[in-house]
Amino acid sequence: MASFFDTSIEYIKGVGPQKAQLLNKELNIFTYADLLQYYPFRYEDRTKFYKINELHGELSGVQIKGTIRQVETIGEGRKKRLVAHFQDETGQIELVWFKGIQWVLKKISLKTQYVVFGKPTEFNRKINIAHPELEVYVPAAEQRSFHQPVYNTTEKLKAKYIDSKAISKMMAELVRAALPQLQETLSPDILAQYKLMSKAESIRQIHFPQGEELLNRARFRLKFEEFFYVQLRLLKLKLTRTEKYKGQVLADTQLLNTFYKDHLPFELTGAQKRVIKEAYADMRSGKQMNRLVQGDVGSGKTMVAFICMLLSVSSGAQTCLMAPTEILAQQHYIGLKEYADMLGLKIALLTGSVRTKARREIHAGLESGALHILIGTHALLEDKVQFKNLGLAVVDEQHRFGVAQRAKLWTKNENYYPHVLVMTATPIPRTLAMTLYGDLDLSVIDELPAGRKPIQTVHRYEKDRLRVFGFIKEEIEKGRQVYIVYPLIEESATLDLKHVHDGYESITRHFPQYPVSIVHGDMKSEAKDFEMQRFIKGETKIMVATTVIEVGVNVPNASVMIIENAERFGLAQLHQLRGRVGRGAEQSYCILMTKYELSKDGKTRIGTMVRTNNGFEIADVDLHLRGPGDLMGTQQSGIADLLIADISKDGPILSLARDAATAVLEADPQLAKPENQAILRQVRSIKKHTVNWSRIS
Ligand code: ADP
Ligand code: MG
Repeated sequence: MASFFDTSIEYIKGVGPQKAQLLNKELNIFTYADLLQYYPFRYEDRTKFYKINELHGELSGVQIKGTIRQVETIGEGRKKRLVAHFQDETGQIELVWFKGIQWVLKKISLKTQYVVFGKPTEFNRKINIAHPELEVYVPAAEQRSFHQPVYNTTEKLKAKYIDSKAISKMMAELVRAALPQLQETLSPDILAQYKLMSKAESIRQIHFPQGEELLNRARFRLKFEEFFYVQLRLLKLKLTRTEKYKGQVLADTQLLNTFYKDHLPFELTGAQKRVIKEAYADMRSGKQMNRLVQGDVGSGKTMVAFICMLLSVSSGAQTCLMAPTEILAQQHYIGLKEYADMLGLKIALLTGSVRTKARREIHAGLESGALHILIGTHALLEDKVQFKNLGLAVVDEQHRFGVAQRAKLWTKNENYYPHVLVMTATPIPRTLAMTLYGDLDLSVIDELPAGRKPIQTVHRYEKDRLRVFGFIKEEIEKGRQVYIVYPLIEESATLDLKHVHDGYESITRHFPQYPVSIVHGDMKSEAKDFEMQRFIKGETKIMVATTVIEVGVNVPNASVMIIENAERFGLAQLHQLRGRVGRGAEQSYCILMTKYELSKDGKTRIGTMVRTNNGFEIADVDLHLRGPGDLMGTQQSGIADLLIADISKDGPILSLARDAATAVLEADPQLAKPENQAILRQVRSIKKHTVNWSRIS
């Protein structure tokens, strides 16, 4: 049934098929519903008039009142422009048009009182306004709005005279017709509890606000609603999963006790213990675990994973750990084999470079159950890899894997879906985690092992290079190792290589006495491994690399991280890189080398890194700088579809909406109660209009 809201916008008065087609193409607006949800991106204060002698180039949008004294066209061809000399009682400015000159000329008459709106710019100490809005001044007739809505348009639309004002006109027509049709989309309970404005009123106020307070309430309501439906979907997924999917009961702790008593190399942190308890509660519950472990770099996620893996093996099931790179898988294998051997467990490594014969042995061991623990890269997702009984699958650095890859893990056990533990060092703010991973259970390791000295971070310039080299020497003489990292230059692979190679050359020239490793993206993986291993074993003292070493690598003896052109890195990446040092007991250092002139954002990034080691604080700054769109995984989460809510600013509203969604599902999981019919209807309507995302986030 086609509803009112599915009607094509061409039927709005004054639109018609041609304009409709343009709006389809340019703004993706097809239906009444689309247009109603095309919210203003800002509002202009149209109650205040500036005087011309008050204008300067720093003002954003100003409104002035006056007359046009003279009009002239200046220049030829592409430089041709129309200049109107505009004046009020305090002075005069130039209004300039480069396009639509004929149209403007027809509109303009001298001596008429006009209202001009636009952004003043200063040029040669003269003020002008390019492409201003120009209307005839009507004294009292028109109530000038305190909040005049401004809609985004495009050049193509403007060329057809569909500017913000024109959209506002269409909107007025549409809102008038739509108001009686607009049904409430939240339940009366929620409206009352959170003191929300009704849907219809919010739509009216967001487009045609009647004051600050009403506008704010409309915004709040619409943001709340957006978050509410994202959260409801995620929580519903989670509910379905925990209800539908039984989990293997893995409750035996014998191996774990032995490991604790005899082999655990250090005291676990309180946070590690807590997270292990949370995972254990899931694994023994009879329901399938889907848990995200979020822990800053160096917080000891590997040990948490290993202990959970022991729980699986102890109960007679197998376990696997998947890492995003071969280097990382290898390192996990070497580290965990030591413990596995102590406990008499069989462990193997499966990566793309494992030979056929060894691979066959691994396959056989997995199928018979003789092999308890498998460490690997995504090679372990291949269909040929069949377990006798996979109890727990761990995914390390999960942001490096796609949704489909994780979904594949689910198929590795025919009787029960395996329990899944995903680990991430990408510290994302809680609000974002709630949305990105809202259908997973979340555990946070918010504590670093005792005795770690916070990494000291400094900012240095090219002129300091000799001092930096001197420092490198001191540290190496003390027995430490050093990373020097160069940025990936996406525009140019050649330039990229040149940077690393130049760096490598200058380092070997300056430090002929030290063996140096080099690792970059253009090397074969065996060559990379070889170089990496030399550094891990301490044979080389300096590692010159691009960002390939970014994730996970653990060389506790490395104490200095030098990041070249640090201004070219994002905050999350800088933090990941810095996390490669500070893993041992020694004092570690991070040196951020940059050029002199930094952008405003660049300054904030470097300043933040120097100020704090806290990954969550850094993530917060990052979110504010970049917005959520750039962050990993936002595509599947529904964040990309948010129209008005902003995850980096509206965290508190998100929390409320999540509470509300939780309460609704707790009281009425099927949305069957009469008071929740509005919600059910909206859920169905959203489903109809959006892609059905995979059941795993
Ligand atoms: P990440 O969370 O970044 O994966 P790792 O698991 O690689 O961190 O651990 C970083 C280092 O800290 C390793 O060398 C590990 O052995 C050590 N470690 C982990 N937990 C503790 C602890 N409770 N006490 C001391 N050292 C620990
Ligand atoms: Mg790790």
